[in-house]
Amino acid sequence: MMPDPGPSPALSLAIDAGALAGNWRALDRLSGGARAGAAVKADAYGLGARVAVPILREAGCGRFFVAHWAEAAAIRALVPAGGLSVLHGPLTASDVAFALASGARPVINSLAQARRWLEAGGGPCDLMVDTGMNRLGLEMAALGDEAVARLEVIGLLSHLASADEDSAQNPRQQALWRQACAAVRHREASLANSAGIMLGEAYHGELTRPGLALYGGVPRPELAPHIRQVVRPRAAILQTRWLEAGDTVGYNATFIAPGRMRVGVIALGYADGYLRCWTGRGEMLAGDERLPVLGRVSMDMSVIDLTRVPALGEGDWVEAAYDLPTAARASGLSQYELLTLLGRRFGR
Ligand SMILES: *Cc1c(COP(=O)(O)O)cnc(C)c1O
Repeated sequence: MMPDPGPSPALSLAIDAGALAGNWRALDRLSGGARAGAAVKADAYGLGARVAVPILREAGCGRFFVAHWAEAAAIRALVPAGGLSVLHGPLTASDVAFALASGARPVINSLAQARRWLEAGGGPCDLMVDTGMNRLGLEMAALGDEAVARLEVIGLLSHLASADEDSAQNPRQQALWRQACAAVRHREASLANSAGIMLGEAYHGELTRPGLALYGGVPRPELAPHIRQVVRPRAAILQTRWLEAGDTVGYNATFIAPGRMRVGVIALGYADGYLRCWTGRGEMLAGDERLPVLGRVSMDMSVIDLTRVPALGEGDWVEAAYDLPTAARASGLSQYELLTLLGRRFGR
């Protein structure tokens, strides 16, 4: 018997599988002679890795990147052997034990991590080299260390800090990554994130690592024609009411009705990642109508203007306007934040 799924949430995240698969194929094509992998850290940028990974695999993706070891544990059954890399690298003995037992590949970020991995017996790993971001990664000066020479490096990685801009930092990092590739034996060189793919062939190596653009983000305008929206947050209308001129809505009464109007309370609030920055800026979609969010967003609810959609009532659903580049401009949040904020209460 199927377990009782319990009450269904009044909040759902519609995920367009065709758009996700199409975005991966487009990024793979734009990667030229390189293959595209997929960054699926942070639960596939909030979509739900258990939903996203099978769709990406079906599209042809064979290489996946997570940040935490716990994220690798959650999806390892969904990913082909040798196709899963853990960006944070092995910090503890239990990380190393998990890597050895599961085949999830550590990304080695420091000499300490390299030695920890080798002492445990080692085996295939990736190596992240810092070329100027000063986040994770081995410094260039350490590339000649004997511990590095003993690593069995599959992916030789670096990460671009400013690929979404036409910055002089891009060619500087690219040149250092090439130097690292010449210094360390490896199988696949990998530098580009979503934006980096559009910087051209010199940035491609053998493997690219898009994340954001898979999920509908557009970090560089050149990507726009290739990328489709994937994620559509939807919420049910819990109640409707009429306001008279002068009535106010929500905490601190920041919206004052200019006249008689009909409003609806929807089950979407800041606890779901629909932050208070949407106050006075957010819109819900219903057919061709755009329904403004009125007053402050609360924890579990927002209030929207239903005056122009008299047919909509309690139990009907609306969709948040959430095309990522547009929503980022409207909210002041980054496209990455818009995705990864989406909370656990959404049915996925
Ligand atoms: C997150 C991440 C990516 C993906 O970056 P996007 O900008 O989302 O395409 C690639 N590589 C590394 C190391 C990352 O941490």
